[in-house]
Amino acid sequence: MADTRVEREVVDGVARDESGEWQPAKRPAPAPIFAWPPRPVEALKWMFGFPGYLWPWNAIYMLIAIGTWLYLQPALERCAEFRVDWIAEMYVRNIAMLSVIVGAWHVYFYRFKAQGTRYKYTSKWLATSNRKFLWGNQLRDNIFWSCVSGGTIWTAYEVVSMWAFANEIIPYVDWRTEPIYFVALLCGIQFWRLFHFYWAHRLTHWKPLYKSAHYLHHKNINIGPWSGLAMHPIEHLLYFSCILIHWVVPSHPIHMLMNAQHAAFTPAQGHVGFDKIEVGGSDRMPAASFFHQLHHRYFECNYGENDFPFDYWFGTFHDGSPESHASMRAKRKAVHQI
Ligand SMILES: [Zn+2]
Ligand SMILES: [Zn+2]
Repeated sequence: MADTRVEREVVDGVARDESGEWQPAKRPAPAPIFAWPPRPVEALKWMFGFPGYLWPWNAIYMLIAIGTWLYLQPALERCAEFRVDWIAEMYVRNIAMLSVIVGAWHVYFYRFKAQGTRYKYTSKWLATSNRKFLWGNQLRDNIFWSCVSGGTIWTAYEVVSMWAFANEIIPYVDWRTEPIYFVALLCGIQFWRLFHFYWAHRLTHWKPLYKSAHYLHHKNINIGPWSGLAMHPIEHLLYFSCILIHWVVPSHPIHMLMNAQHAAFTPAQGHVGFDKIEVGGSDRMPAASFFHQLHHRYFECNYGENDFPFDYWFGTFHDGSPESHASMRAKRKAVHQI
């Protein structure tokens, strides 16, 4: 008799399940920097080790922000008055950078399929004929919302902030006079981003906001790089409001750019759908966020990001294990019975 068993792909010692899902062997856990009692050695390793908080990805995003300020930003004196020329320069720059960065993730993993489905959380590819997406095409739908709504609202926040810096309406920090503060804020800005993201995201799961705005992002159950910033304009307004912190906290425009670009570029990586990038035979380079992948799979969990501990503190944490799933279902049942 013929063997009818389906051969399932095994990656990192974990086999794909019958519905094509795969998950990394290592479960998500909060960053050791938040551990109590403190674990200083692990915290330092997490902060400066590879892969860790700074290396490689946050360092890359910092370099992009510094490069943008040095080479791609209209001079601050020009920004003192709202004029079409410098605003258009910033808009074109942002759309071009978004297209190159998100496009690179897409082309590598989804057009060239450079890794096949190795380290891919699902075995499915993007939808090409599904009426819930604009033009029935998930990729085109996602690009439309990311560029037309996302690119515009992101740029608007940056433009108004640059205008406010130029007119000395908001507090400005010179890196030459306060270098330690400058570096500390540059390294710490992502903590604020993740803190803001948790609360803004939880807010969009409030029924009226979910139904009017956040549903659009969640049309993407199977996600790709362009799904990250595919949001309704109301959600973009909320999501990019993290930039407003620079209206209160003394900053250099590089900090503002870092914050804004982190919000604009990291969702592509977070939604890439592949856990790791294989580089030269090594699989140490992290890619997507399995933590957020679980949010797209189960909805009412993992509102923040893995490193920041709010989901652990407020009981919305899901680590992908059957126990985690059972406890989430039990909690939901208890709420419905009240
Ligand atoms: Zn998402
Ligand atoms: Zn959500």
